[in-house]
Amino acid sequence: MVSLRAKRSNPKRILAATNNPDKLREIRRILNDSGWEVAGLDQFPPYPEPLEGGLTLLDNALRKAREGFSRTGFYALADDTGLEVDALDGRPGVLSARYAGEDASYNDNVSLLLHELDGVPHDRRTARFRCVMALVGPQLERWWEGTVEGVILTKPRGSSGFGYDPIFWSPELGMTFAEATPDQKNRVSHRSRALRGMVKEFWGYHT
Ligand code: IMP
Repeated sequence: MVSLRAKRSNPKRILAATNNPDKLREIRRILNDSGWEVAGLDQFPPYPEPLEGGLTLLDNALRKAREGFSRTGFYALADDTGLEVDALDGRPGVLSARYAGEDASYNDNVSLLLHELDGVPHDRRTARFRCVMALVGPQLERWWEGTVEGVILTKPRGSSGFGYDPIFWSPELGMTFAEATPDQKNRVSHRSRALRGMVKEFWGYHT
């Protein structure tokens, strides 16, 4: 059995198969102490990220991780994340990135969501981020899920984070994800919960 300490002195290189610099920054920060060195797609010859045409977060996460592994030969991880709003029957969910259209900006998506929730009272604005993190390597396909509960505010608050962070109020933090520091967000976030599951199981898997 190889100890965690021994592995830390021999970090593995892993590819974060995402073209989203906000996600890459978060993944690197969360995995900072894991012993893995996280490479970005910018360190490899460019290839088009597979279309998120899957019906589920898992489909999309696996597509991206498989493509990353087959293009580079490195263990590749990729996440797909959805914001599930209870008053909208779980929408935008798997369509979160394209909620306001194919080329929608973060602001376009936030504006549409606020519009759809216009008039919905605070106690019915519950929502959660759900993240599926896939890891693909030689004879390895695994995935982990992380969720975090929150409430969708009526106006954006804060300027940190990305995507829907300014309207996602976390009861655990007492602020929106965009008001939180990166470390505060990473303590509770869907992405960090999925990644922590991965780190825990992956160390066990290869010892
Ligand atoms: P995807 O996982 O790249 O498909 O992202 C889905 C959508 O959710 C995108 O619009 C992202 O901006 C948004 N999103 C993903 N992760 C987060 C997050 O941690 N906070 C806020 N929005 C997020």
